[in-house]
Amino acid sequence: MQFVRLVFPLRERKNPNDMFNGTLFALCITFDKPKPENAVTIAVSSRVLFRTEREQKVFEQKGVEEYLRYQIEHENEPFAPGPAFPFVKALETVNTRLRELYPQSEQLFDIVLVTYNHAHVGIRLINTINHHNLFIERFCMTGGSSPIGYLKAWHTNLYLSADAEKVREALAEGIAAATMFMPEKLTEVSESQLRVAFDGDAVLFSDESERIFKAHGLDKFFEHERENEDTLLDHGPLKGFLEALGKLQKKFYAKGQRLDCPIRTYLVTARSAASSGIRALKTLRAWGLEIDEALFLAGAPKGPMLEKIRPHIYFDDQMFHVEGAAEMGTIAAHVPYGVAQKCNTNQKTNMGK
Ligand SMILES: [Mg+2]
Repeated sequence: MQFVRLVFPLRERKNPNDMFNGTLFALCITFDKPKPENAVTIAVSSRVLFRTEREQKVFEQKGVEEYLRYQIEHENEPFAPGPAFPFVKALETVNTRLRELYPQSEQLFDIVLVTYNHAHVGIRLINTINHHNLFIERFCMTGGSSPIGYLKAWHTNLYLSADAEKVREALAEGIAAATMFMPEKLTEVSESQLRVAFDGDAVLFSDESERIFKAHGLDKFFEHERENEDTLLDHGPLKGFLEALGKLQKKFYAKGQRLDCPIRTYLVTARSAASSGIRALKTLRAWGLEIDEALFLAGAPKGPMLEKIRPHIYFDDQMFHVEGAAEMGTIAAHVPYGVAQKCNTNQKTNMGK
């Protein structure tokens, strides 16, 4: 068993969640787990894995001391599942199948729980993890400091957080990341198959074509994509994560389980098949990435399609697609990347693409 303890001075806190002034330390605990370079590491913040709104309210209304007292008094009460919970459960289902096929392999999903909380709250988090039968053994309690350094050290393949600023920081460091939001209710999703859906532009691909659309409109965008059909798109922030999923999928294919693969991936893009979809498909093929299903919606709303797919997570760079999907019960995450972030105020009118 490995036991790692790191001590760092804290910075001044601007975030209400960064609640512990004074000298505290970041505590990272890891047990005997796959080496980060072999595993597909998913870092999830406690605020998206579990529902902690009530505790946030105690902190905001009554302050740090009351908050800590509340957490300790309630430490045997598990938190309810949050938006990332079904995704994490599905990762564990895939791990179970991988272990059956490859008992010695370290090519598994490895989940790291990241929290800005004080170690006192860690006891409640561990109790919650045990209550829900989750297999999370890596914890990173940063005591308020940024987790980005740890994410890099762990070769993180995906970081999910409620804190958009931290997500932006992670993206700027080249780590795939997305912001998750508390849904009204949790949608039922498959318990035997992990389903991950991606938008194309500014998610799997760079935002180069999105820029043409924003600057010159839809016709120019289609024309540009036709002219550049044979020019590969550059990679976007989530390409590496799709690649990691693809590597694990191939382990099932190698054992003859292509049709019964517990990972399924989807491209859900506003591109249209005839004019602009071909460039996307050619790019994926040139990267050696297979996507199980590609839906070209030609500007139609994504919500109804996603409602049929019921993914454990859907990634999009445009907030109106995230909101539209969430309204129809899809667990959607925002990737704050690319030109669309500068055009937030105009998003509602840009639904053509
Ligand atoms: Mg996009």
